[in-house]
Amino acid sequence: MGRVCLTFDNGPDPTVTPHVLDVLERHRASALFFVLGHKLDEPHGLDLARRITDAGHRLGNHSYSHEIPLGVDERPDHVALEIERTEERLARVWDGPKWFRPFGGGGKLGPHLLSEASAEYLKTHGYTCVLWNSVPGDWLDATGWVARALEDIERQEHTLVVLHDYLPEPMERLDDFLSEVVARGHRFTDALPPSCLPIVDGQPQASLRDCIAGDTE
Ligand SMILES: [Zn+2]
Repeated sequence: MGRVCLTFDNGPDPTVTPHVLDVLERHRASALFFVLGHKLDEPHGLDLARRITDAGHRLGNHSYSHEIPLGVDERPDHVALEIERTEERLARVWDGPKWFRPFGGGGKLGPHLLSEASAEYLKTHGYTCVLWNSVPGDWLDATGWVARALEDIERQEHTLVVLHDYLPEPMERLDDFLSEVVARGHRFTDALPPSCLPIVDGQPQASLRDCIAGDTE
């Protein structure tokens, strides 16, 4: 019997996010939504983010453009453009703890995730950096992701699942997935697995060196 923490990335989306919120409510499950800054700038983006928090879920920063992993982003101002710009928008709808999830590029872990400058920013501003230990690939396989997520949950005591609330088709299976998690005796939790957190409330953890590009001394 395992614990399952749910996260939804790359929203909010006017069609998919409300559906995900309805399904979560039906299962009395809560989640952490890692939103994109540029989606908050779309019409109703901030309203959707407010609906997420009104429903009792948490909001995190998943960068502004979501195009280049921070560890390989060579723009000198990438921290301001990606993290700060999103933080400014999030601050209008969220005053809880600061969570950041780097863009992995297909869910990959490694030194491409953060630059030295972005890691410094997250530490200085008291962020918790949230990685993952289950990326079932909902965006690649609209039905097969459910079985892969369940496999991850069966083999781990505490699973942090990355799903996405911007494609309608895969999220049509969310209800079945959540039902199956409960039917197999697992339970949902807000707690994040410590092994997925290279920075906690601004404090660097041992795993941080594995996600920073370049020399870390
Ligand atoms: Zn993403």
